[in-house]
Amino acid sequence: MNSLRQLVREKLADGRLPHDSIPRVWGGPGNGESCHACDEVIPQAAFIIDGISASGWGIQLHVQCFSIWDAGRAPDFRLRSDDEATRGDEARRVEGRWMSA
Ligand SMILES: [Zn+2]
Repeated sequence: MNSLRQLVREKLADGRLPHDSIPRVWGGPGNGESCHACDEVIPQAAFIIDGISASGWGIQLHVQCFSIWDAGRAPDFRLRSDDEATRGDEARRVEGRWMSA
């Protein structure tokens, strides 16, 4: 897991993964695609997150890799305290994001 985080950080640093947000994502079973984060095949048994970034960059990731990328892409945002957001909003935001398919 640590090495995967490291890999995602490296890809963010050298531009192989986007830093901008993904306004909309889709989810579904994999179909043998390569994960853009870990480079491993996403089998049909696994769930894939597909999305297009704000700058038009299409990415496909394992669910696990997506969350690592999402947490790692914008450390500045993470430093902003969640205390400002109400807890209820937090849950709704997560639901909206994952249910957008
Ligand atoms: Zn992956």
